[in-house]
Amino acid sequence: MAANWKMYKTPKQTAAFFEHFNPLVEGIHDCEVVVFPVSVSIPAAVAATQGTAIRIGGQNLFWGREGAYTGEISGQMLHEAGAAWALVGHSERRQYFHETDPDVLKKTQAALEAGLTPMVCVGERPEEHKAGKTDEVLVRQFAVGIAGLTEEQFAQIVIAYEPIWAIGTGNTATPEIAANAHKLIRAEAEKRFGKEATDRLRILYGGSVKPDNIAGLMREPEIDGVLVGGASLDPQSFSKIVKAA
Ligand code: PEP
Repeated sequence: MAANWKMYKTPKQTAAFFEHFNPLVEGIHDCEVVVFPVSVSIPAAVAATQGTAIRIGGQNLFWGREGAYTGEISGQMLHEAGAAWALVGHSERRQYFHETDPDVLKKTQAALEAGLTPMVCVGERPEEHKAGKTDEVLVRQFAVGIAGLTEEQFAQIVIAYEPIWAIGTGNTATPEIAANAHKLIRAEAEKRFGKEATDRLRILYGGSVKPDNIAGLMREPEIDGVLVGGASLDPQSFSKIVKAA
């Protein structure tokens, strides 16, 4: 159960969130909880979650290890700051910062090299959804952004299916729509990496997940968890979502 905080919460606000959130999820050990704060809030998040099962991740990384790349952060830098995960290829990165599928592959490889678990995001745009092109888009995103991993690398990633028409719109995909997309991703994964590796792959759904729609989504066997934006910013709301796992 993962939280993408986007560009919200300063270090102080991050500490305040966990002060409320930690007791609400204490004793929950049957699912992994990962929070992706903005980079400068990672140390505060790591400090506030020490001794808990909650893990922290970076929302983005650059594929270079170091160098003249003003404004960028490497996997190793995130790792040393205490991150264990990295979000890669979120649709807002693709839309506003022009990240491409080849970038996604390079960033995923860089995250793995730095010892981070990548959560690789895929999903179609509203116009592609309307035009019935979801499968085509997912096949392309998988072929270019993921299939280039080695089997060993693939075994370490998690995929998040996030249809862009569902992100921040209140328009959640039905469990059936999400399940169909997850099945398609699994089929592509099986062709490239085989059945055993694909059976172990976790695919999360993301897009307007809220406390009042989480139960229906989690009942769908194809959905292994969720990536939550807006509803993860409030400790009560995100704890209700975590408990639904
Ligand atoms: C996201 O940012 O990944 C997301 C799914 O956002 P929201 O839950 O607000 O739709």
